[in-house]
Amino acid sequence: MAHTASLSQLQNPPWALVNGELVPYQDVKIHISAEALTRALSVFEGLKGYWNTEGDVFSVRTPRRHYDRLCRSAALFHIPIRFSYEEFVAGLATLGERLLVPERDLWFRTTLYVTEGHWGEGTVGDLIVTAFTQQKHDPDPMRLGVSTWRRAADVALPTRVKSSANYVGARLARIEVRRLGYDDAILLNEGGRVAEATGACVLIADNNGIASPPTSEGCLDSITVDALGKVCRELGLPFERRPIDRTELLTADECGVAGTISELTLIDEIDGYRYRQNGVLARLRQRYLEVMRGEAVLAGIDLMPLITRTGNGRADAGYALPATTR
Ligand code: PMP
Repeated sequence: MAHTASLSQLQNPPWALVNGELVPYQDVKIHISAEALTRALSVFEGLKGYWNTEGDVFSVRTPRRHYDRLCRSAALFHIPIRFSYEEFVAGLATLGERLLVPERDLWFRTTLYVTEGHWGEGTVGDLIVTAFTQQKHDPDPMRLGVSTWRRAADVALPTRVKSSANYVGARLARIEVRRLGYDDAILLNEGGRVAEATGACVLIADNNGIASPPTSEGCLDSITVDALGKVCRELGLPFERRPIDRTELLTADECGVAGTISELTLIDEIDGYRYRQNGVLARLRQRYLEVMRGEAVLAGIDLMPLITRTGNGRADAGYALPATTR
């Protein structure tokens, strides 16, 4: 089965949001001279919203964390932020109300494209929000290949923030391994240790517990890995962030990739090495999804109610900011 991220991008939703205004998706335009195009200058976030088990409340996971990371990414690239957190969340509600259907969840892509300015002078970023519906059922386990392409060093192209330019290398890695029949690629860092997959971080599990590389190994500062760490604590599973050698990856008992859209997707095989499917990562995945569906509440994993469905089936946007942000 294809990666869930690529499936979402095949959709053509009717609406997008440009600086807070609803615009027909097909009419969203960026000028060819914009630095977003000439210098790959855009930073973005992918946020996932879930229907609860009862199907009447749709909530977005950890929007504040995404807003803060977007601000950090923008600050690093000297892109001014022209919208508050409240406006950011209100935008998700406006678009979500248009695109949400009862039988599918929604994944939002909030991208800050540099549309004006030149080499850091007069920089203006436009916030464009798109959203794509997502299947509710579990993705199949994936088969990965380790790419010969490496993650750029922090001093070359920082990977802990989320910039579109980072995905140029990831795209090469993915093309390389797709030709070999794999679903997705793992990129190593300059030291030859595990950095991340093309759109998700890597977790392994063995007798020592569950481990994932820290951001200093060349991966995005993943909000999902943080959330999974909290679920591990709740379940009493040992979890640590530490460097992972290639041989450790290939000889681990279990492997998974973690990201907002991938959730925790189990890995079946990497380069011919096989992984167990029904161990602690499967348990961790199940508990994470229970939290996402509102069946359990865990401190530090905010689910912000964004849209509720009324008795007559109508969707009403009316989001409630968590107490900490009021
Ligand atoms: N690494 C990369 C390259 C990604 O694109 C993503 C998805 N955003 C992740 C890791 C996982 O990050 P998060 O859990 O914050 O979605």
